[in-house]
Amino acid sequence: MLKKLVNECRFTLTLRTESPLLVREGRYGSPQIEKKSGVPDSFFVCRNTPEEIRKAIDNNNYSNLSFYLPGSSLRGVVRSHAEKIVRTLIPEGSLCCKPGNNTTCKGSYKNSCVICKLFGSMGSAGRIQIHDSETLKKGIDFERYGNAIDRFTGSVSEKEKADGGKGGMLFSNQLLKDYVFTSRIVIRNFEIWQLGLLAYVLRDFHAFSGNDEPGLITLGFGKNRGLGRVKGSIDKVSVVYYNRNLETKTYGLMGMGEMEPLSSDSYGFITSGPLPNGLLEEATIEPETPYRKQCKVKDNVLFFKTCAAAWNKAVDNSEFSALSTLKERSKVLHGV
Ligand SMILES: [Zn+2]
Repeated sequence: MLKKLVNECRFTLTLRTESPLLVREGRYGSPQIEKKSGVPDSFFVCRNTPEEIRKAIDNNNYSNLSFYLPGSSLRGVVRSHAEKIVRTLIPEGSLCCKPGNNTTCKGSYKNSCVICKLFGSMGSAGRIQIHDSETLKKGIDFERYGNAIDRFTGSVSEKEKADGGKGGMLFSNQLLKDYVFTSRIVIRNFEIWQLGLLAYVLRDFHAFSGNDEPGLITLGFGKNRGLGRVKGSIDKVSVVYYNRNLETKTYGLMGMGEMEPLSSDSYGFITSGPLPNGLLEEATIEPETPYRKQCKVKDNVLFFKTCAAAWNKAVDNSEFSALSTLKERSKVLHGV
């Protein structure tokens, strides 16, 4: 991929919990923080040191822990939802590789599927960064008990019954309620269709709808028990262009295909357009970084809708190299 930084789209995704949420603290139960009886079997992930967590557990008081949504967790959820969208749209699967050792996306950016182009693969780094969240509003944490369900019979686990217990292994989790997290998302060297694919994911967080209903995407543990429902909203959307030669203050929306036309063939960039004018406000240029032009997005919904239309168009016109290669191949095979 191009080594230089050309453009960036940045925004914040705020997620408000609509049902109890648990993203597990992976350190609990490791040698760092050993399991203890009489406390929850799993805790919400936090920024604190093992000492601080051990102290909170000993005192059975978690109010000083700083819970957050790790960027890597949110990224995983966003990626798998984007895969779902792509597979639903093009069931043949040519736009989305099968993850694992047999993935076809081991090589260059150009030959990667649309998912790996945005999120990265073994062969190329992803374009999207999702930062660890800040906590906008602290709610409450509480402990909830549940029965361990036998995955085979679907009934309450028989193991404890056999051991002479009452039946049904009881476990408990620490859950969060009424929390609001906000995560910074940056897409570097983006193509416009990538923002369009992301727009579909954001829509399913209900980030563009005025009503307060939770979105279709759930986070963390216990999704089939109704946990982890969230409502999203987006804010502070801006586009940054990096170029010493751009002198003007007024810019349209430009992806890699528009900004680097000479590299388009070697990287398989797609040009989108024509796009509506006036999506971006005038650029602000800091005197110490004159090559950096930052433009606020005027209307978030219109902006992401425009990008979604660019994604739709690229899909309809089979502009992705993976898909067109497949078409070419089938033409050869079937003599069409
Ligand atoms: Zn792939």
